[in-house]
Amino acid sequence: MRAIYEKYAEDLDALKVSGNLRELPSGQHDGKWIINYGNRMLNLSSNDYLGLASNMELLHEFYDRVQSSGEQLPMSSSSSRLLTGNFRVYDTLEERLAAMYGRESALVLSSGYHMNTGILPALCDRNILILADKLVHASLIDGIRLSGARCIRYRHQDYSQLEKLIEKEHSDCDRIIIVTESIFSMDGDTAPLQRLVEIKRRCGKVMLYVDEAHAVGVRGERGLGLAEECGCIGDIDLLCGTFGKALASVGAYVICDSIIKEYLVNRMRTLIFTTAMPPVNVAWTLFVMERLHSFKDRRERLLRHSERLRKVLHDKGSETPSASHIIPLIIGPATDTVIKAEDMRRKGFYVLPIRPPTVPEGTSRLRFSLTADITDEDMDRLCDSL
Ligand SMILES: *Cc1c(COP(=O)(O)O)cnc(C)c1O
Repeated sequence: MRAIYEKYAEDLDALKVSGNLRELPSGQHDGKWIINYGNRMLNLSSNDYLGLASNMELLHEFYDRVQSSGEQLPMSSSSSRLLTGNFRVYDTLEERLAAMYGRESALVLSSGYHMNTGILPALCDRNILILADKLVHASLIDGIRLSGARCIRYRHQDYSQLEKLIEKEHSDCDRIIIVTESIFSMDGDTAPLQRLVEIKRRCGKVMLYVDEAHAVGVRGERGLGLAEECGCIGDIDLLCGTFGKALASVGAYVICDSIIKEYLVNRMRTLIFTTAMPPVNVAWTLFVMERLHSFKDRRERLLRHSERLRKVLHDKGSETPSASHIIPLIIGPATDTVIKAEDMRRKGFYVLPIRPPTVPEGTSRLRFSLTADITDEDMDRLCDSL
């Protein structure tokens, strides 16, 4: 090793000692299974919540349609959307999204990470105050940092603290942006969106930014997310979601008023200075979105499995904060969590330990993430082996 890298080696050693060293996992996919060292395990760490990414029938239907339509769908857009990368399929997807949500506009982005690191820096200046839930996703934290705006993180889901902060701070700033997830990535609990809308309505300076990465596809009658379920799609200024999880594609979107979209097109660096997504991926996203309403049986099965696993954990005395298909079993120390995860894998369940810095120190956990292609028999085995 070169002497100049010594510091990195020391840091890695320290991570190893504390049980927090990460490695890129190996393993092959076979539908809902993962095969690793000859061991076939049910994948309980996937974000393919509806089981669409592993659905080859759906994929073949897409390929057949592309072939028979003769549509030109290159594997690269070769440019930013603001130059020559704005293929027609982008506009079609955005028009469809705006119509499905019943809002003025939608803007499609390359990933959730681009979305969350781009929107806040574009919309913020020094006179804006961001109020963000303590547990928002790392991409939102990075967006907040890049925005240069003043930010206060309120205690996770503590809305009376949020109200007090608005009361105290609103006269010292031009606008306030409340930032939250709808289903939180690590706890699997859900934000009361109606309550947030009421809080926003009480002060004319407040905008609401909701990241639905884990809820889109899964929640709501048509799968549009928790905002659909809560009946408040029209009340969220920046209603964000990603295509890479339940929707089995790649990219992200924000549903908003036209003025906001126009502003983002002019100011959002993660939109302007990056090559647009390949048209073929955008076409696939459109294909999935058009069928989203029809996956209701999958949403219902996922709901059933989730309720069952939460009840089993509860009956075993392990409280979980979850109110969704993301169900953490909080163990505490990182090393114990790693051992428990290995035990589950030996029993045929691929579940990963989640450790700091992803979650706070002392709250390491197994994170079960259920999908709609898990059968009742799979659930029987899982519940028995806990
Ligand atoms: C996964 C995730 C993202 C990032 O989305 P990508 O499309 O994977 O970049 C953003 N926000 C939340 C809450 C997420 O869970």
